[in-house]
Formats: sequence, C-alpha cells, structure tokens
Amino acid sequence: MASTSRKPRVQTASNSPSQYTGGITIKSPQELDAMRVAGSIVGATLSLMKRTVEPGITTRELDDIAYKEITRHGAKPAFKGYHGFPGSICASVNEEIVHGIPGKRVLKEGDIFKVDVGATIDGFIGDAAVSIAVGEVSDEAADLMEATRLSLEEGIKAARPGNRIGDIGSAVQTYGEGRGYAIVREFVGHGIGRFLHEDPQVPNYGQPGRGQLLRAGMCIAIEPMLNVGDWHTRILDDNWTVVTADGSLSSHFEHTIAITEDGPEILTKHS
Ligand code: MG
Repeated sequence: MASTSRKPRVQTASNSPSQYTGGITIKSPQELDAMRVAGSIVGATLSLMKRTVEPGITTRELDDIAYKEITRHGAKPAFKGYHGFPGSICASVNEEIVHGIPGKRVLKEGDIFKVDVGATIDGFIGDAAVSIAVGEVSDEAADLMEATRLSLEEGIKAARPGNRIGDIGSAVQTYGEGRGYAIVREFVGHGIGRFLHEDPQVPNYGQPGRGQLLRAGMCIAIEPMLNVGDWHTRILDDNWTVVTADGSLSSHFEHTIAITEDGPEILTKHS
C-alpha cells in the first residue's frame, strides 16, 4: 500500500493516512527475522493470487481467498481497517493505480489487475504488490507491466548501505522514463516495520546522492507506479481508489526489502 507523498508541491489525498513520523527505525537481527516471516506470508499470498486470477473472477472473491491465505499462516491482513480500508487486499484494475476496494467487479480478458497485500504477524508487517495480466493482454499493457517490474528491480539494486533515498528514486525514474512511461509522484514507497508507513518516504523519482542515508537494518517498501499517459492522479468518490487523471493504463509492483551489509534482501518474494 502506497504512502501519500508529503512533498508540499503535490496535492494531499483526502484519505491521506496520517504518517508515522517517529523517525527511521533500524531493525535488530530478531526484528529482521520477524520481518522475514511477515514478508514470506505476503509473498505466499501474492503467489496464490498469480495462480488464481482469471477472467470471470471478482475482486471480492480474490479478497476472500487472500484473507484465508494470510490468516491460515497465523497473520492478520495489515490493510483491513487501516484508516477504515475495508479489504484484505487492494484490488486495482487498468486505469486504477492503487488502493482499489475489492468488490463485485468481474475481471475480464485483457485487464491489468494490480493486487497489493499486507500481512501483520508478531507485530511486524510485510507489504508488496504485483500487476497480473488477466488472460491475454495488449502489447502495450504487457510492455507497461514489464517496465514497471524492471524499474522496481533497478530501485532495489540501489538500496544498499551508503547510498541515499535519492539513488533509489533516480534508478526507478531513469529506467521507467527511459521506457517511455510517466512516474506517479503523489504516492510513494515508505519505511515499514511495526507500522505500515514509517519514515523515510521512498519516492520513485529523485536525484542520486540526495535524501536520507541508507543503513543496514532499515526496511523499506519500494513501489513504482508507472502510467502510459501522464503522472497526475485523481481519487474516486469512494475516497480510496487512485486513478490516472487522464484515464491511461497504470502498473504497480512493490516489494518490502531489508537493507543489509551485503545489499538488499527481498522479504516478499513470490513465484
Ligand atoms: Mg506499500
């Protein structure tokens, strides 16, 4: 789940979750182990979503399946009840970027379905998202999803001790814009741990060498959102669903990672 950007030059969403501002947390080895458990449950749930999505299924059915998977592992869905969010997953389709509410919408051949999963166990949270092709999708949609997935990989590679937050954003932006897509600015990645949204904010744009220093023990969610059209967003009347202002297609991928002395460790791997 994305954090609303605090940058003053962008709009504030009406549903803006109040940010945890207790500063950046450095996890102990024991806390990192707890983050690994939470991340693995998110990864397992995303793997299940990838196997389950098909034309004809509703987003509510997928929400139920995700809920069962998360709780089967002894975890709780981190999004359910978060500032009143009703779902266990965020379910966003096509021009919906993030924070879609699961419901009676039926997925159809050619849709891009974005599912975002959060799980809490032993007080720690994992958060990750994938874009899934529903049946056969257009070449444009496939290219957008591939570019978004690879921009996340570029961002993750930059998440090393000694680098800065701007190195991550710059890596995502350079790759994504290089593929011809616009980078959403009004929603960003975030630190994560005992809280879903901790410091620092992790924008998907930036300048190398700028922003907070990355240190071993930090856990962050990196989550590029790329649009075919321009980067502006709008929030629907449900006060949650973020859509592209121009109605163009959007894709979202997210991983929770730990920054270790050896480099980034992906905690929410899926297959
Ligand atoms: Mg997130």
